[in-house]
Amino acid sequence: MSVSGQHFPALVLNADFRPLSYFPLSLWSWQEAVKAVFLDRVSVLSEYEDAVVHSPSQSMRLPSVIALKDYIPTARKPAFTRFNVFLRDNFSCQYCHDRLPTHELTFDHVIPRARGGRTTWENVVTACSPCNLLKGSKLPSELGMHPHRKPVRPSSRLLQENGRTFPPNYLHESWRDYLYWNTELET
Ligand SMILES: [Zn+2]
Repeated sequence: MSVSGQHFPALVLNADFRPLSYFPLSLWSWQEAVKAVFLDRVSVLSEYEDAVVHSPSQSMRLPSVIALKDYIPTARKPAFTRFNVFLRDNFSCQYCHDRLPTHELTFDHVIPRARGGRTTWENVVTACSPCNLLKGSKLPSELGMHPHRKPVRPSSRLLQENGRTFPPNYLHESWRDYLYWNTELET
């Protein structure tokens, strides 16, 4: 069958057979995966049964799981980004605990900027718009609004763990062994 125009992503594992990242899940397009195979940078652990590419001299099944031959060290200190703050807080408002899609989440300075609060891991939490509005430029003690969890700088490990609780929309069955112990796969 022709594979052009179809996705057939490959799950990319580090040399220790753990995903390079969980959230977003480390996936390469089949073109990238095939190129890496020919450059001998990855081992193929599993293949799509129904997807084959042909070159003039040979044909190959598209890989569904690949592992890097050289280990890539993962970052020790997570970047202070919007996404990582949401991920640290499990995409839930730290005041009312609602879990919301990213575009409905905002940031709250626990000690407001107007009161000298800084934009740091220790002073920024995920908040929904209503809670953010309600809190305004008040201190937590003035409203009795305290973050659910004390904000701290997360470790890479914590972010990876939090990412694991958000399964991707699409999971090929061959990925199951490398991702979660308890994934329910839709068929
Ligand atoms: Zn809220």
